[in-house]
Amino acid sequence: MSTLTNPFEIARETLRLLAVRRIPPTPDNYLTLYQEITGAKPAAEPFPDKQLRSLAAALPKTSPDQLRLARQLDEAVKAANWEDYKNKLVEFVSTLAESQKLAWADLVSDLLRQWDAKHIGLTAARKRESLEHVLTSSGANPETLFNRLQNLLRSWGQGKESGATTSSEAPPTGIGAEPTSTAANTDLLPELRTLFAFTLESAIATQLIESPQLSSDARALANDIRTAASTGQMQEFLVRLKRFAFKLELLAEDQAELRHSLLNLLRLLVENITELVVDDRWLHGQIEVVREIIEKPLSQRAIDDAERRLKEVLFKQSQLKAGLYEAREAIKHMLAGFVDQLADFAEATSEYHDKIEICADKITAANDISELGSVLSEVMRETRTIQINAQRSRDELRSTQKKVEESEARIRELETELETTSDLVRHDQLTGVLNRRGLEEMFNKEVARGKRHDTLLCVGLLDIDNFKKLNDALGHDVGDQALIHLANVCRETLRPQDTVARFGGEEFVILLPETPKEEAVIALTRLQRELTKKFFLSGNEKVLITFSAGVTQMLPNDNQATVIKRADEAMYKAKQTGKNRVIAA
Ligand code: GH3
Ligand code: MG
Ligand code: MG
Repeated sequence: MSTLTNPFEIARETLRLLAVRRIPPTPDNYLTLYQEITGAKPAAEPFPDKQLRSLAAALPKTSPDQLRLARQLDEAVKAANWEDYKNKLVEFVSTLAESQKLAWADLVSDLLRQWDAKHIGLTAARKRESLEHVLTSSGANPETLFNRLQNLLRSWGQGKESGATTSSEAPPTGIGAEPTSTAANTDLLPELRTLFAFTLESAIATQLIESPQLSSDARALANDIRTAASTGQMQEFLVRLKRFAFKLELLAEDQAELRHSLLNLLRLLVENITELVVDDRWLHGQIEVVREIIEKPLSQRAIDDAERRLKEVLFKQSQLKAGLYEAREAIKHMLAGFVDQLADFAEATSEYHDKIEICADKITAANDISELGSVLSEVMRETRTIQINAQRSRDELRSTQKKVEESEARIRELETELETTSDLVRHDQLTGVLNRRGLEEMFNKEVARGKRHDTLLCVGLLDIDNFKKLNDALGHDVGDQALIHLANVCRETLRPQDTVARFGGEEFVILLPETPKEEAVIALTRLQRELTKKFFLSGNEKVLITFSAGVTQMLPNDNQATVIKRADEAMYKAKQTGKNRVIAA
């Protein structure tokens, strides 16, 4: 057929062919025939990258497989490669259907087997309960349900009684099973790998800042497990991992030893400080607390507490040393002056006695009254001199004494100032719990910790009931002892991580980390009950101390002032409604 060139002729020929070949006269068919006649290549259709991208975007991306697919589809779109796009998608959908089908069948038969098997410490009721939990908590997501069921069966499988396994039973899926024995395992492998790499990189490597070599080993291992493709590479990885684990074990031993020696050092220091501190009950108390802390299993909170108390001890000790030095100087000065005065006085008096003796002789030897006159005036002169001397000595002694009193007062002032205004003292001197400054510091720490771990923090404010009456009836000192008693019961009853602080006269603030409000109320109610059991003894008299308390939970926009204000309002309500109760804000 000769090639037509006239567009009218080509159009006519196209229509003719449509009729002859009985092809429906659609624009597409017309175009195809037209191009066949002219010999032109069909114009390349624009690649539908927008549509393909939106299809890829609409697919779920929760598992590593799905993420990989998304990446591949993206690459295919970038390369405008429809074949690749289509193949990856088809491949994924078919393996998905295949593996899911297989895995479910395996999983269900495993479930049936485990259901009938006997497990250590697992009753049928307990199994039913955990299965129901998995079923209800997985929502409508089959993948989540599948993974959770698999984990559940694995945990049952680990507790299987050895005698209960019959030879016909397949080994439980999971640890120890061949990686290819079930489709479920094949499914989990990429996820496990990613998780393993993540653990090595984010959890282990970052913990090893002080051992740079091990830290970079961990990162290298993470890379290895991510990229290991063949069985050979996996085996190599396992060898390297074992070596790494061995090195980690050695490091752990080293660190345990280091910790042990540091603790011993601290103990030694504490013993020595006890020897050094002067006769100060508060200081001894603080050191006792530090000693108790380091005897117990260590926690960050306990170490923080020990550090704070030790700092206070050291600070107070240095201040007391300065005070003692001043006092010693003043007393030395006073003694020196006193000895001088005494010597002067003794000298003056012995001269006086000599002179009086001479006068007495003169009186005995006197023959007439005129002689006596001159002797008497001599006696009067000497007596006056000694009187003046004595008065001067007394005046000087008095002024020295005054100076000593002044310096003593200055020392006392210094000590009081220390207790009330020192930047370092964070504990209440009477009860030993935190003071306001200590509370503020602890509050900030707990808020930060709560945010970091996403946990709840509750705050309680308690105020002793009718404390004024107790003071009036038994005296202020007994009141003080009652405050100490309450602080002790708080410390004994609450958990070690809870903080007790004296907020004011007979008001205490309690911080309860990792605690929802209902539990905080229960904790304070238990404290109330405990106070009725461990009553306060004044002499032989049992005195019942009760308190009213308000409890509230820290909210995102709260600060210390707003949260304590809310607790205070709830406490006020407790007072209004009859006292001796705990009310939640
Ligand atoms: P309510 O049940 O309403 O709280 O009555 P209350 O008597 O406890 O309360 P109020 O606020 O009227 O009195 C508190 C008393 O606590 C008055 C104060 O003398 C006494 N107080 C404050 N600090 C101390 C202290 O350190 N030692 C002693 N012994 N008493 C203190
Ligand atoms: Mg009060
Ligand atoms: Mg009160």
